[in-house]
Parts: sequence; structure tokens; C-alpha cells
Amino acid sequence: NETLFPYPLNYNQVDWSLHYPKKFGKDPLKLYLNTLEYPIAYDDQVKPEYSESIVDFLDIGCGFGGLCFALSENYPDKYTFGMEIRGKVVNFVGEKIRALRDEGQAHNVSVIRTNTMRHLPQYFRKNSLEKIFICFPDPHFKKKNFRRRIVNPGLLSEYAYLLKPSGRIYCITDVEELHNWHVQHLEKHKMFKRVQDVEQDSAAKLIWNSTEEGQKVERNKGSKFIIVCEKV
Ligand code: SAM
Repeated sequence: NETLFPYPLNYNQVDWSLHYPKKFGKDPLKLYLNTLEYPIAYDDQVKPEYSESIVDFLDIGCGFGGLCFALSENYPDKYTFGMEIRGKVVNFVGEKIRALRDEGQAHNVSVIRTNTMRHLPQYFRKNSLEKIFICFPDPHFKKKNFRRRIVNPGLLSEYAYLLKPSGRIYCITDVEELHNWHVQHLEKHKMFKRVQDVEQDSAAKLIWNSTEEGQKVERNKGSKFIIVCEKV
């Protein structure tokens, strides 16, 4: 069933060695994951070896993974995780990771199919993520659908909970109205402070053009709006 996918009951059940086999001394070419051919499964065993957090960068709604691969390349010491709800798109990213690993790359990047609006705290613990990226999210223009926006007051509290102190959240969009929504809710949120010198932030530079959606906007000569905030 396309609408059903497994998820861990809590973050202790995530076997990160399946996502980043090389980090854990496993053969990275044996454990191919997150493709339709090799789907992931969770058991209810606690994984004690993961008492510390593994993922540094989270890309919410990663789509075809352009940013994930750019982060993997630009930050070789960081572990990037893409989350995406569409099965076929996740399969594409999983297959690309597999192909790159065959060439000795992409050991620090992985992807999972999930609904981030429901399952984030089942993957990550409090104060664990260094950066969260939300790039070109679906705008949901109608007022009755605003609650489906991936930035909203409740979810911002969740993102703040999962970010490390001084961790950063990045939101970029080509829809000015949605950007204003991002600004309004982030500036109002007690746990976030807007970063003014965005030009100094190398990750902010990356999100400008490395996602597939960002490249499309670029080709169409559209505008892009960005806000970066730090957890206080
Ligand atoms: N970030 C990518 C980019 O910039 O190219 C993709 C942008 S696309 C417009 C928005 C993506 O978010 C889609 O791939 C969509 O499937 C995904 N998405 C929407 N709601 C989601 C959710 N609740 N959980 C995970 N992914 C979601």
C-alpha cells in the first residue's frame, strides 16, 4: 500500500547502521536501503549503541535530494538525513545513494520515507540536530489548508525541541506570501532568533541553488526568499 510505511516507535529503535553502514564498520555495499527493492524495517529492539545522536543535518521534504547530496559533499564530517513522503521519490534518492556508494561516495547521507509532520520525534532526540532545512515547501495557499504547512507554530516548537542549542533552521521559498508566513511565525516564536548575517552562513548559500526546486526557480528567473533562525 503506497500510503502505509513503517516507522519506529521511538528513536531507540532506529538502526542507524543501516543508514550509515560505513560509520559503523559495516559493508556499505551490502546493506542497500530505502529503495523499493530493499525497504527498511524496524524491530522493537532498543539499539544501545546509539545512545548518542547520529544525524547532524535534516532535510525536511528533501524531494530528489539535491541538497542532501550537496551537504554530503560540502560537509564530509557531518551526517545528513533526508525525509520525504513520496515513495517513488525516496526510491530515486535511495538508488542514487547506492550508485554513489559504489564509487566510494555518499557514506554520510541517507534518506527515509516518512511523514515529517507526524514522526519526527520518533527518529531524533531532544537537542540533537545541528541544522534543519525546509526548502521550497508546498505553499498550501488556501486558508483552510494552512495547518498543513510544514512551518506552523506547533511544528516550530518540535523543530526547536530537536535542534541543539544554537542549532539553525533554514526556510527558503519562491512564494513571497509563504515567506511572510515563515517570517511571521519564526520571529514570533520564543525559541528562535533571526540570523541577520545570512551571507556568512555557508549552508544558507548551498540551499539557494542545490535543490531541484531551487534550480527550477532559477531557470524560470523567479525570486527566492530565505530566513535563517537560531535556537535560543
Ligand atoms: N526540498 C525539495 C526541493 O527544494 O527540491 C522538494 C520541494 S517540493 C516542492 C516539497 C516536497 O516536500 C515534496 O517532495 C513533498 O513530497 C514533500 N513533503 C510534503 N509534505 C511532506 C511531509 N509531511 N513529510 C515529508 N515530506 C513531505
